[in-house]
Amino acid sequence: MGKILIIGCGGVASVAIQKCAKCVETFPEICIASRTKSKCDALKEKLEAQGTKAVITTEAVNADKVEELIALIQKVQPKVVLNLALPYQDLTIMDACLACKVDYIDTANYEAEDTEDPEWRAIYEKRCKEKGFTAYFDYSWQWAYKERFEKAGIMGLLGTGFDPGVTSVFSAYALKHYFDEIHYIDIMDCNGGDHGYPFATNFNPEINLREVSANGSYWEDGHWVETKPMEIKRVYNFDQVGEKDMYLLHHEEIESLAQNIPGVKRIRFFMTFGQSYLTHMKCLENVGMLRTDPVMFEGREIVPIQFLKALLPDPASLGPRTVGKTNIGCIFTGVKDGREKSIYIYNVCDHQECYKELGSQAISYTTGVPAMIGAKLVMDGVWKKAGVFNVEEFDPDPYMEALNQYGLPWVVDENPTLVE
Ligand code: NDP
Repeated sequence: MGKILIIGCGGVASVAIQKCAKCVETFPEICIASRTKSKCDALKEKLEAQGTKAVITTEAVNADKVEELIALIQKVQPKVVLNLALPYQDLTIMDACLACKVDYIDTANYEAEDTEDPEWRAIYEKRCKEKGFTAYFDYSWQWAYKERFEKAGIMGLLGTGFDPGVTSVFSAYALKHYFDEIHYIDIMDCNGGDHGYPFATNFNPEINLREVSANGSYWEDGHWVETKPMEIKRVYNFDQVGEKDMYLLHHEEIESLAQNIPGVKRIRFFMTFGQSYLTHMKCLENVGMLRTDPVMFEGREIVPIQFLKALLPDPASLGPRTVGKTNIGCIFTGVKDGREKSIYIYNVCDHQECYKELGSQAISYTTGVPAMIGAKLVMDGVWKKAGVFNVEEFDPDPYMEALNQYGLPWVVDENPTLVE
């Protein structure tokens, strides 16, 4: 029992907060703090109108500023801080949690907002060389807090969304219950939803487009193999969605699973995209609209990808119009009792069902529910250790049970079609 401080009030946060507000035995008091306080107030009003028994308060905060965050944490006195703002704020929020000795949880690893900052670039380029891949995001920034969190006696739980998050817990669960050793993991994120717009992103456009337009990479035999964007394509027939094209991307959970699943030989991540999405994205990239550095326009600086974000439909507005399902999961191949075997663990989620329940589409739902589950396990003391951890480092069983209980039931297929 205690208070949770949730930072951010966008698509993912609104799902997580609504789920927390229904689970008053763990979350009797919720403080929602974000840059735009009116969004927090609107959600508080909605929850109160629905008769939540949780006490909800709201605050304005600029989570880029460590001092503001420290003042907020000192005022609110939470047991846990759940960061559902953007990956740009991970380090400032971790710094504030460290200063106030409060547990920290997030769903996405740190990314720099200004990738042209010379100080950041110098560190980034050194790390890329060491690691042999060039993604703008990696865990090294946050793993560097491990010792300081340990010394402060607090916990940092990284990446409790769906991917990373549920896919990482699926991996720990497969290892615990189905294998002596896992050798191959294929993570597959399929969105079979249709929102009816020619082009829109299902979550924050800036983060989404950067992820998709970057080089891909996968882990094989102890090192990274880098690919050009969209270079590796496969076709897969997804349960309840059908046949889809999917492309290999770099994804953050590969990095932590490579460390935490002993003996793993290869980990790949695939995401489905339709041809129309890719053509729009290529065109936007070709004309410079995906640039993340400022350009001068009529006497003032603008960042093209931020301007594009203002033009695209707000991901939060896609809920009522999106139909279809998501299917996200992992195929594992390894050995059990000396015999090679494969299993596929996945969840199917229906966009319209999510909308009916919480007023959001399935992408926010499939991230917000695991965020709430991670927070619940930490609040309840079920997952508790000092230091900084990824979700697969804990006992997966209570998390898997909670997925079934809170709206993301999963399936184990013991005879899956493998990805070539
Ligand atoms: P949104 O853009 O919908 O929401 C972000 C929220 O953070 C907004 O309320 C925004 O405020 C707030 N915010 C942004 N900057 C600041 C700041 N400096 N100070 C305070 N608040 C700020 O994003 P999503 O809800 O789609 O995504 C939330 C997180 O979830 C992201 O980190 C994303 O990467 C992650 N994610 C993880 C997934 C996973 O499976 N692991 C999948 C999808 C997303 P304002 O309203 O003023 O803009």
